[in-house]
Amino acid sequence: MHALRESFGWKRFAILDTDAHHGNGTRDLVRDDPDVLHVCLCHTDYQSPDDTKVDVAALGKYDRQSAGLSEEEINRAYAGTAARAFEPRVRAFRPDLIFWYFGFDTHRGEYGDIGLSRDAYLLLAKMMRRLSQEMCSGRLEVVLGGGSRSDIARGLIPPIIRVLGER
Ligand SMILES: [Zn+2]
Repeated sequence: MHALRESFGWKRFAILDTDAHHGNGTRDLVRDDPDVLHVCLCHTDYQSPDDTKVDVAALGKYDRQSAGLSEEEINRAYAGTAARAFEPRVRAFRPDLIFWYFGFDTHRGEYGDIGLSRDAYLLLAKMMRRLSQEMCSGRLEVVLGGGSRSDIARGLIPPIIRVLGER
């Protein structure tokens, strides 16, 4: 981010972290930087006093084992959590560039399985494309995070790239 500021004059960055685990490394790096919005979907709820460092429990009150939600309901709950946590904050924050730290370790059968399947990630991709177009001329950088199964990666990543490439 220092390099981006030096090279392009971009100052403010918004990060959506949808890896299964808390993004503690990223958070440590940006903790004291008021020009970085970091919204992390994990297992806890937290808001810094200036509302630029935020954790949200990814499925809210739902727990996939106990709630008996269908696959589609879990996908929608997750994408809805991301939209409510990220969209209004990005609009208020007005970033120069948006990052999506995308992990698929939350997918069914992965090591951070919370019951998601492909549609959840496609909903996120559509939101990120729309927000980046609306807020910062489409500037969106997607960073690949956790996930270990190549079969899941092959089923997810090409359609996500297609969604991100739509105008
Ligand atoms: Zn977190």
